[in-house]
Amino acid sequence: MNKYLALFFVLVCTNTFSQIQYVNTAFENASQADWHIDSTNKNIVELGMIYDHERSSVNRANGHWHFQIQAEPGTDATIILKNFENIWNGRAGYPVSAKTNCMVSKDGKKWWHIPGEFIDGTLKFKIHFDTDKLYFASVEPYRISDLEKFLARIKGNPLVQVSNAGKTSEGRNLEIIRIGNPNAPHSVFLRGRAHAWEPAGNWITEGLVNSLLEKDAAKYLKRYCVYIMPMANKDAVARGRTRFNTQGVDLNRKWDAPADSIHAPEKHAFEKWLKMMIAKGKKPDLAIDLHNDQGGNVHVNLPREDNKEYTERITRFVDLLYRHTWFTEGMTNVTNPGSLGEGLVKRFGVDAIIYEFNYEWAEGLKKVPMGEDWKLLGKQLREVFYQYFK
Ligand SMILES: [Zn+2]
Repeated sequence: MNKYLALFFVLVCTNTFSQIQYVNTAFENASQADWHIDSTNKNIVELGMIYDHERSSVNRANGHWHFQIQAEPGTDATIILKNFENIWNGRAGYPVSAKTNCMVSKDGKKWWHIPGEFIDGTLKFKIHFDTDKLYFASVEPYRISDLEKFLARIKGNPLVQVSNAGKTSEGRNLEIIRIGNPNAPHSVFLRGRAHAWEPAGNWITEGLVNSLLEKDAAKYLKRYCVYIMPMANKDAVARGRTRFNTQGVDLNRKWDAPADSIHAPEKHAFEKWLKMMIAKGKKPDLAIDLHNDQGGNVHVNLPREDNKEYTERITRFVDLLYRHTWFTEGMTNVTNPGSLGEGLVKRFGVDAIIYEFNYEWAEGLKKVPMGEDWKLLGKQLREVFYQYFK
């Protein structure tokens, strides 16, 4: 065999044998999947998404994916994600669409995104491996270890107090971060990560906290104090689940009644904290529950005539969002029975909203949103609160 023919065979064989080898789902925040590599074309891997279920309900969800694929360098892989026929309140719907991208990373820290192809309910991605492993995720991940790094960085700052409001179902600490002076004339509460697959709340609150600890932030903290429960559904974040806590409770539902302390200790802990604040005469002026979805709107939870003043205040807040942040989406008057927004208004007289961030597209930036974009919005919120509490 002459040397050129030999080289040709080497090249052909290298290409033929560059193939997917394994899907790793054994790491922090990894989603579980029923995966298999195609038996005839080992450059194709199919992953069936696994649902998490609400207790005694038809509700289930599987918008979260986060896994690592190991392949021989040189592999041109096709990744097919299936089993997205989500059921929400008995209705089918997709947590993905033709606009869904896939986040990719070599090290789980620096992420970029590739476009997806959405056909017949399946999502397909094509990727070239120039390394032996790549991470894939539905949204840029923010893990418990990221929260721990963040808390370690800010603890010790005299403007910061981190306390524990209670524990999750599995015994993890539920932190409340306070930034600024508790005797400031106003205060705002933010909750992140009620739904585990929606990390925007963590990116936003981290951006907000960073901005309030900058040298020029004194004027903001003179006017208001910030309280944050950064990761309400920590157990599901740890386990790579989508929506419910590990006992099958939706932490953004049934706020029209006192929390079930056995099955929803994450809600109970927050309620206990809120009652303690109210008893101390420190009821928050505003509460914001941060989420991700495919719409990206602010939900006004009680758009009724008898709550005209609430609606007016929230409208003013949203106008300030338009003016001082990259948010452009809008405000919807959808009643979401039992959401935190509605429950806090009704039961505690706290102005509250559900603030969604579109995870597929940030219209105000004309791009697919990444963690840094949400951090920027968090920084911009500093001015929004300043104007709102004028
Ligand atoms: Zn949500």
